[in-house]
Amino acid sequence: MIPPLLELRDVRAGYDGISALRGVDISVRAGQVVALLGPNGAGKTTTQKVAGGVHPVDSGRILYGGRDVTGIGPRDAARAGVCLIPEGRGVFPNLTVRENLWMMTFTGKSREEIEDLAFSRFPILSERASQTAGTLSGGEQQMLALTRGLATDPAVLLLDELSMGLAPLVVERLYEQVAQIARDGVAVLVVEQFASAVLDMADHAAVMVRGQVEYDGPPGESLRKELANLYLGSS
Ligand code: ATP
Repeated sequence: MIPPLLELRDVRAGYDGISALRGVDISVRAGQVVALLGPNGAGKTTTQKVAGGVHPVDSGRILYGGRDVTGIGPRDAARAGVCLIPEGRGVFPNLTVRENLWMMTFTGKSREEIEDLAFSRFPILSERASQTAGTLSGGEQQMLALTRGLATDPAVLLLDELSMGLAPLVVERLYEQVAQIARDGVAVLVVEQFASAVLDMADHAAVMVRGQVEYDGPPGESLRKELANLYLGSS
């Protein structure tokens, strides 16, 4: 069987002796969207950071395409095709949309190729091309961040709280694109605190509680029950 593109095996990690991940197992395959859910402080962002080589593990293993890359830094992770789009979008607010895109020419793509990539997926960005990124709506900034990430031709895309502060319709549109990105063969791990939009398109879901994965399975009825228990304390 083809190994997952991204795999965390029994990963433990923390901050100055405070344990944030207590034995996390997660895998994401090419073409798959995995939703990583859970309440505040559960360890979702730390999992993303560990997966992207931004935060070190205390123990356990990280594998890309079956290859052990534990201890790899963010630079080598990026070289290996892992793209982390952090919460808060990571665009340059004082640069125009076009300049934000042009910065991605370090990938070897031309300005035109990168603009095509952005404007074909998100036509609204072409209307905003000369505006500074800081004046875009939250959804448009997220579109820009997403296309900047795609310019690196990632094999694995790590998205943190894509829906944060956005209107439901905007979130739906963004997730349609995320589903399309996965269909193109990318392995996508999406962190969300609130689940509904991502669950409509996720292939698989994991729920974290206090640094551990409590549910790992399809995004169906049993997951929704698990989430209801978690957030509402009901059964
Ligand atoms: P949120 O949705 O609030 O971001 P999360 O599920 O992403 O939550 P993490 O941000 O991964 O959770 O946090 C996991 C644990 O690690 C929490 O107890 C948090 O307080 C702690 N933590 C996170 N970042 C740091 C940090 N920079 N320094 C110290 N502790 C941290």
